[in-house]
This record gives sequence, C-alpha cells and structure tokens, in this order.
Amino acid sequence: MIACGHPEFQKFGKDRHGSQQYKCMVCGKRFTEVREKPLGNMYVPVADAKLVLRLLVEGSSIRSASRITGIDKATILKLLVKSAMPASDSWMSAWSA
Ligand SMILES: [Zn+2]
Repeated sequence: MIACGHPEFQKFGKDRHGSQQYKCMVCGKRFTEVREKPLGNMYVPVADAKLVLRLLVEGSSIRSASRITGIDKATILKLLVKSAMPASDSWMSAWSA
C-alpha cells in the first residue's frame, strides 16, 4: 500500500481510472491504492475498513468481504481483532459512525 514505506499519508484525489491516490506526508511521493499484498501493515483506509466491518455485520464471509474490498483476508482478521479492542477509541468511533 505504501510505496515509499512511510506511515503517514493522506488521500490525494483519484486517477483517471478512479483509483484512490495517496500522497506521502513525509517525502511527498504519490502512489495509487494497491489492492494486493497489504499483508503485514494495518494502513487500510478507514473507509475500506468500515466497509469490511459493515459487510461482515451484514453476513458476508471474510472471503467475500476480502473480494469486495480488495483487502487481504489476513488483514481483515487483524481489523476484527483491532476493532474488538476496547482501548481502541478511534476504531470504536469508526465502528459506530
Ligand atoms: Zn514517503
């Protein structure tokens, strides 16, 4: 997902194919949302994470949610663990928003 390896980035519009683009806040490098191999990092866009959680709540399987959102199944499992943690205020608000 993060081409340059820096952890801070923001959305930077969309390219002509409609893919979400991001800009690194550290080095300024721009990159397009990568739909593969997010394994090992948790920098899933909140909108996508919320979509995953919503899909699961509405009865989708993890496999199905993964296919729809493009988020790796292992990452979805991490999201579930993280969203279930009471200490995770940001995730609780994302969950209820
Ligand atoms: Zn960077």
